[in-house]
Amino acid sequence: MAKRVYLFSEGNKDDRELLGGKGANLCEMTTLGLPVPFGFVITTDTCREYFHSGNKLPGLLEQEYRVALDLVEKKMGARFGDPENPLLFSVRSGAPVSMPGMMDTILNLGLNDEIAAGLAAKTGNPRFAYDSYRRFIGMFADVVMGVPGEKFEHEIEKYKAAHGKTLDVEMSAEDWQAIIATYKTLVQFPEDPFVQLKLAVEAVFKSWHTPRANIYREMNNIPDTMGTAVCVQAMVFGNFGDDSGSGVAFTRNPSTGEHSFFGEFLFNAAGEDVVAGIRTPLPVAALQERQPEVYDELFKTQAMLEKHYRDMQDLEFTVQEGRFYMLQTRSGKRTGRAAVKIAVDMVGEGLISEREALLRVSPEHVEAFLHPTVDPEAKTDIIATGLPASPGGATGEVVFSADEAEEVAAKGRSVILVRRETTPEDIHGMKVAAGILTELGGMTSHAAVVARGMGVCAITGCGSLHINVAEGIAHSHDGITLKRGDVITLDGSTGEVMLGDIPKIAASSSDDFQTLLSWADKHRKLKVRANAETPEDAARARELGAEGIGLCRTEHMFFEAERIEKMRAMILSETSAERQKYLEELLVFQREDMLELFKVMDGLPVTIRLLDPPLHEFLPHTEEDMRELAEAVGKPLETVREITESLSEVNPMLGFRGCRLSIVYPEITEMQVKAIMGAAVEATRQGYKARPEIMIPLVVNVREIRMITEIIDRGAQEVLRGTGISVPYKVGTMMETPRATLGADRLAPAVEFMSFGTNDLTQMTYGFSRDDAGKFIPDYLDKKLIDSDPFVSLDQRAVGRLMEMAVEDSRRVKKNIKYGICGEHGGDPRSIRFCHRLGLDYVSCSPFRVPIARIAAAQARVEEVGDD
Ligand code: ADP
Ligand code: MG
Ligand code: MG
Repeated sequence: MAKRVYLFSEGNKDDRELLGGKGANLCEMTTLGLPVPFGFVITTDTCREYFHSGNKLPGLLEQEYRVALDLVEKKMGARFGDPENPLLFSVRSGAPVSMPGMMDTILNLGLNDEIAAGLAAKTGNPRFAYDSYRRFIGMFADVVMGVPGEKFEHEIEKYKAAHGKTLDVEMSAEDWQAIIATYKTLVQFPEDPFVQLKLAVEAVFKSWHTPRANIYREMNNIPDTMGTAVCVQAMVFGNFGDDSGSGVAFTRNPSTGEHSFFGEFLFNAAGEDVVAGIRTPLPVAALQERQPEVYDELFKTQAMLEKHYRDMQDLEFTVQEGRFYMLQTRSGKRTGRAAVKIAVDMVGEGLISEREALLRVSPEHVEAFLHPTVDPEAKTDIIATGLPASPGGATGEVVFSADEAEEVAAKGRSVILVRRETTPEDIHGMKVAAGILTELGGMTSHAAVVARGMGVCAITGCGSLHINVAEGIAHSHDGITLKRGDVITLDGSTGEVMLGDIPKIAASSSDDFQTLLSWADKHRKLKVRANAETPEDAARARELGAEGIGLCRTEHMFFEAERIEKMRAMILSETSAERQKYLEELLVFQREDMLELFKVMDGLPVTIRLLDPPLHEFLPHTEEDMRELAEAVGKPLETVREITESLSEVNPMLGFRGCRLSIVYPEITEMQVKAIMGAAVEATRQGYKARPEIMIPLVVNVREIRMITEIIDRGAQEVLRGTGISVPYKVGTMMETPRATLGADRLAPAVEFMSFGTNDLTQMTYGFSRDDAGKFIPDYLDKKLIDSDPFVSLDQRAVGRLMEMAVEDSRRVKKNIKYGICGEHGGDPRSIRFCHRLGLDYVSCSPFRVPIARIAAAQARVEEVGDD
């Protein structure tokens, strides 16, 4: 049987899978000789065993951990369950990947009436002993017995109010004893410490499946099968008195990335008080003032840990009676700006390589450079200021609960979630909020950590705003009242709360960001293009590093007011001559548009897709619009209605669209080609380099390609003839029907490029309608029938398999085909990795995703070749 229990002296930082991140790092710190209260870890394998056997702890487990427990007792010089000299434990969850606050932890385990009295006597500090005891009962009841923690909090509030007290530090031993007496009327817990321990271990395993943990894993793509380890660790006590306390610190600023030690501390408080955000902590400088030697030790430790782990660390520590203890270290969560700055700085400091730096930045981090910020010039009506917990600007309607946030957001409205503090129970509301505002809690509170991780703007510790959730109202110091539904703006970078919708500035870059992107470009193989139609989008794409346009949807150009009229008239034409007349008018528009695009993209390829949607999409649907159209084209309403009806389809996505239009109406394609080539000629005349790549959509066989290529070549010849100008152009095909991918070897000789249209390909491979799948995909996800929405992240198994076959089969026939992808997946990092492995030449995505794609492409390459 595999070993289930590891002492802190038996593991190291590379054992994350088995011991969880927390456990592995506790082991590592122990080995490094840091002051870590001793303990042991029960493995994640044991957690899986527990679930596989229908929630039963393995029979031998208790024997195994009792052996370890004996050794911990020896080392700590105290005994678990001994009233004369009691040892208490924390029982802590810890998964292989960090899931802060998502699972459960029980502190001060091993107390009952007798042992609490013994602890009071031994330490001569009854206040501390009973404070610890009431904490234990509250946590144990909540986590193990399922009695909600608020019940207990409520008793404390009631007691404080009745006795004219507000702060925990004002509570005496007697006060806590009175509270404990009340607690015991609410819950009956086991007296035997060993029974407590067993139940706690089991509860921590079970907490892997709390709803909040499940949501968090879903949001972060963490597999359910991983399981959590359990750390059982000797307690140290920050609530021992005024020379004790607890803190959280970051080795660099997690919000800006600045290389300066950053921490928060509460005197005479347990660590949970800091993390939970129920008291607003002091800056760690306060510790430096009161206990300089302790501060020095903390400072040295953080510097050492950062060097050792070669990454910014997030530390939890406790001071008991002037002695310093380390309770946790992990790679710190950080904002996007901080992530980029830290990665670039660490390369400069020689701590990590460029390639490693690339792996340190996630797609979400990059998004932060693309988020809007509040325009400083436009700021007015600042009604309160809190801590700048997570940057960016956000405007929305005030809501006071997570459920409300969900409700209002579902209606498509932007919300600001306003809470006294947040707990993991609020996660579903935080997820949909544009911004988060809390009255209590520091930069390391739950709200702050979670918001930063999600890239949502947040302000915490906004004490000048008194929030009354029950009444749905918040009062500012200056007498301003916020009600449900009021619109406010948050500046998460300064902590300012403003009334109304304050203008924002589009996201801006930074030197560090540009540096990182230049490294990405150096290390990646995949090229990145953008999907763009308008000159503005094209310009933005180019600015953001696009190396061409991978998809220009020509139909978008026809939806503008003046053009849609001509388009409709063209569609309604009853004779070829009539159609020709309107096509000529459309040609002028199309040529203008293309000219602008060629100018912006000067020298870079522009992939232009021929008309794709069913013609019906261009036609009016209401009676009134039809009447207007009839008048405009000078036809009887009846005719307009008839033609419209005749074009309507039962199944338009599988209907008369794509290259089928070119087959039936070659004159439309001819017009498009003349517009494209005419624009290319004009661009060349004006000194630009036009590189058109004409793309045929929805192909199913090579005969279609041949027939349409003939139209293209003929049109191109006609335009070029006599101009003395030659424009190199390419003709290629979308690969978006299963038949095209399965017959790629037959298509290959007829094309110069193939671009996977994975939206349609996914739709047709699954038989899931893109436009209707929203009705059932959530259920499929919920019921775990699929792991992710195939329209968001490419289905590598089947859709990916079709792509792979298409590439292999066509490459065998013809060597120099260029391969790309232009579906939504082109901007999805996981899909980009897949495209890299497939050996595609480029991905094409929306302009804003271009930087993300550049980084993801580089990461794919670095992962393949290693990081140094
Ligand atoms: P989380 O993963 O949610 O951060 P932890 O297991 O880190 O949960 O526990 C929460 C808090 O409990 C820690 O921040 C720490 O302050 C406190 N704590 C945990 N173990 C001990 C211990 N052995 N002694 C004192 N405090 C502890
Ligand atoms: Mg922790
Ligand atoms: Mg398509």
